Amino acid sequence: MLVQQILKSKGGGAVTTVKAGSSIADAADTLAERRIGGLIVSEDGETVVGILSERDIVRSLALRGAVCLQETVGDLMTRNPVSCSKSDSADAVLEQMTNGRFRHMPVIEDGKLVGIVTIGDVVKARLEELALEKDALQGMIMGH
Ligand code: AMP
Repeated sequence: MLVQQILKSKGGGAVTTVKAGSSIADAADTLAERRIGGLIVSEDGETVVGILSERDIVRSLALRGAVCLQETVGDLMTRNPVSCSKSDSADAVLEQMTNGRFRHMPVIEDGKLVGIVTIGDVVKARLEELALEKDALQGMIMGH
């Protein structure tokens, strides 16, 4: 299973990005509206400069209170996030996410953002693949 197949099964919609100069309050609105947990930070929608996850906001709220809502995405984001390409395997991506303790990964081709995969996307794809393999094996054993 490749990242390419995961993106295809997600329907290939545009990735939601946010500019580094946007406020954390606006970024939180976008996360809530779109029901997502992370935003890729980019000025032009193509070049990735960082990633802002709900965890970054929650951590900052707990440490410093609501004042962080007036700060910018650039203040709280993780710079130069680990990324993958369409030809990477789902297993390799899952391993990087598990080892690095993060749940989002931008997909980049020729320096440009082409998608995002979450740990949920990868686990769902792997479970579907395992179910198909199980059916195929059962079919072979039962002779149909
Ligand atoms: P997440 O589990 O994705 O909500 O993120 C947990 C922490 O890891 C947050 O501080 C994120 O900014 C950071 N993070 C998320 N995705 C990545 C990534 N692909 N590379 C590096 N850090 C990341």
